[in-house]
Amino acid sequence: MTQKVIIVGGVAGGATAAARLRRISEEVEVVLVERGEHISFANCGLPYYIGETIKERSKLLVQTVKGMSDRFNIDIRNLSEVLSIDPLNKKLTIKNLQTDEVYEESYDKLLLSPGARPIVPPIQGLNGNHTLFTLRNIPDTDKIKNFVDSQNPKKAVVIGGGFIGIEMAENLVDRGIDVTIIEMGNQIMAPLDIEMASILHTHLLEKGVKLILENGVQSFADQGKKVILADGTEIETDMTILSIGVTPENELAKTAGLELGVRGGIVVNDWLQTSNEDIYAVGDAVEVVDYISGTKTMIPLAGPANRQGRMAANNMMGNREKYQGTLGTSIAKVFDLTVAATGNNEKTLKRLSLSYEVVHIHPSSHAGYYPGAAPIALKIIFDKETGKIFGAQAVGADGVDKRMDVIATAIKGGLTVEDLTNLELSYAPPYSSAKDPVNIAGYVASNIMEGKLEMIQWHEVDEMVAGGGVLIDVREPMEREFGYIKGSFNIPLNDLRNRLAELPKEQTIYVSCQVGLRGYLASRILKNNGYQVKNVDGGWKTYSSVFGTNINKNVETGSNDLGGTIVENTKEIKVDTVVDLTGLTCPMPIINLKKGMDSLDSGQVIELHVTDRGALNDLPAWSKNAGHTLLKTEQYENIIKFWIAKN
Ligand SMILES: Cc1cc2nc3c(=O)[nH]c(=O)nc-3n(C[C@H](O)[C@H](O)[C@H](O)COP(=O)(O)OP(=O)(O)OC[C@H]3O[C@@H](n4cnc5c(N)ncnc54)[C@H](O)[C@@H]3O)c2cc1C
Repeated sequence: MTQKVIIVGGVAGGATAAARLRRISEEVEVVLVERGEHISFANCGLPYYIGETIKERSKLLVQTVKGMSDRFNIDIRNLSEVLSIDPLNKKLTIKNLQTDEVYEESYDKLLLSPGARPIVPPIQGLNGNHTLFTLRNIPDTDKIKNFVDSQNPKKAVVIGGGFIGIEMAENLVDRGIDVTIIEMGNQIMAPLDIEMASILHTHLLEKGVKLILENGVQSFADQGKKVILADGTEIETDMTILSIGVTPENELAKTAGLELGVRGGIVVNDWLQTSNEDIYAVGDAVEVVDYISGTKTMIPLAGPANRQGRMAANNMMGNREKYQGTLGTSIAKVFDLTVAATGNNEKTLKRLSLSYEVVHIHPSSHAGYYPGAAPIALKIIFDKETGKIFGAQAVGADGVDKRMDVIATAIKGGLTVEDLTNLELSYAPPYSSAKDPVNIAGYVASNIMEGKLEMIQWHEVDEMVAGGGVLIDVREPMEREFGYIKGSFNIPLNDLRNRLAELPKEQTIYVSCQVGLRGYLASRILKNNGYQVKNVDGGWKTYSSVFGTNINKNVETGSNDLGGTIVENTKEIKVDTVVDLTGLTCPMPIINLKKGMDSLDSGQVIELHVTDRGALNDLPAWSKNAGHTLLKTEQYENIIKFWIAKN
């Protein structure tokens, strides 16, 4: 007998399952019911169409109703809503939203892929706010884009610092709009831990975005022209994007008596069957098992939805494929940076009371001597006893995606941090270094496992110093001009062997440097001389990502003011020398700038090319202090150019 499968929801999970069903069998009858007009559209591309990076609306429509039904012989009923499920009689009630006709349809197997909708809490003033938008589908996109195109808003507020909020912030900035992000938590991008998110906080400010943390929206006034925050702050805006998260569309499942989890996700077993064996469910609407911890969670991402859609189709057709759980590997573009994460973060592991060890490193995306290398802040979290990788996070201008994907693959393959040292990854100077950042993360983690290296984390340092701990900074004195951990004293690495007598043997010596590498070398010298040593993990760079930024609970003004006189037309600048410092990490660009300046006469101009974004702060600050004039800063892809006139 021909089997009849009905799928509710025609986008990520639903459309994938429909196509897969047809590829498996020419006989199976497939009915795809979608409430909206469009099926299989590119949700993930929507912000970029609003920002006009994606120029044509048609590009968002990955598949059309006609295209898909022609190719896959599927009965697609768009603009149709499934109103209820009668699991006992295996029937659905469907409403044709164009004609209002309501009818019943029977099924042998049912797949629910209804997704998740944006959360809209009952904020005071919401109803009268006609410039408030949420973003989920093509009609939402059209509304936002039409508003921006026709009303020419100058100011926007984005509520919520998650993926969609941050992507919208960037795309609205691309449209010339002044954006303020309001986030209730103390950081944006929840999959990251705060020190990694802090790098993004600084970057948003660099891009002129105002970021307000630890403050929620209390009400809207003046028909949405005013956003009033919990602490009374009032923000004028021309439009508001509400993106504080999503909630599973579970109404059908609930009324059908299917089991739901604590957060409302549809409960499914390993084969993606709900509590009714003929009803399968996938995507944003289902509760999944966290691949690392084994706990139940909700992870609304396109990759899992697509994989589950395919697997549910296989299983409905008689297979017995097991869904392995969701790792939560994610990535986003935040202006010039890429941010990615996989597995569990520290916040989750703490909540689960699991013990773990952390490594922060700041390697270059590729060989420093080949143009365009940029630092990657890479964090890996692991079990010190077994080497199991719990998770990783990375932020950088280049090469973040592949490192995260390698680590995500390693986790799925059951590799340990020690195994990362043995990964043979592709290398040539434009792409990586002979020791890839993933190998290096493995080396550092292995050193910790073998007891060769002990770490102190960025958030433990101040307390240690306040308690009388001895902290030596092994960088060069000039590097300290751009910031140092208060209470540290300077013994440059090369002097350390001759100055050991200054250090007490009865106390643990803490060592810090720029990124952790020289600290490691210093800690080996000290250890081999009989000292107890701990290295500040990730060095000044990780520590200062949190304590070096001045974002707090209050309204912060994003600023592009880099502290110099900006000359509008570069052609007016006569350049006397060009110095390429790409691939060098801070403070090396400044050290080289200083050398370059020494060789110039007063009034002459140096043009610097840099890839470490830290230079955006350090370089103008140093120039200003030294009395030089920053004429212009420009960025092309990940290369930042500075023009500085000698005083
Ligand atoms: C703006 C935006 C950007 C995103 N960017 C990314 C990204 O970069 N990377 C990433 O991994 N994920 C991203 N996502 C998330 C990703 O799109 C979702 O995880 C994925 O689409 C979930 O698939 P799904 O099938 O569960 O639900 P959806 O794709 O949302 O599809 C569900 C469909 O079911 C329909 N439906 C619901 N109830 C009924 C009913 N009763 N009757 C008929 N139809 C119904 C809905 O109309 C909807 O079209 C983004 C999402 C958005 C909104």
